[in-house]
Amino acid sequence: MSSLPCPHCGGASPLASWLDRADAKLAPAASLRAQCPRCDAETHLALRSGEAAVGSLSPAPAMFRPERRAQIAGLEVRERFDHIAIALETRRWR
Ligand SMILES: [Zn+2]
Repeated sequence: MSSLPCPHCGGASPLASWLDRADAKLAPAASLRAQCPRCDAETHLALRSGEAAVGSLSPAPAMFRPERRAQIAGLEVRERFDHIAIALETRRWR
């Protein structure tokens, strides 16, 4: 199951729902700004092929602090300088 729990409300949402609420433009520390599909809390996502984490950014220097992680089968991620291209099963985000 490709779901990721929210560090704020604890509710798990499918990664595709998180990505629908994320900005594909890269935020500091190669993360993406996103909102929890359930509680609207602002979070950051970090994605690697096969793996996703939700967490927050530390103050300067900006570092991504993962709070929850999940193995996501079929997740493909490519960094494109200023944004990220994501493929998950049949869907794509960029
Ligand atoms: Zn939440």
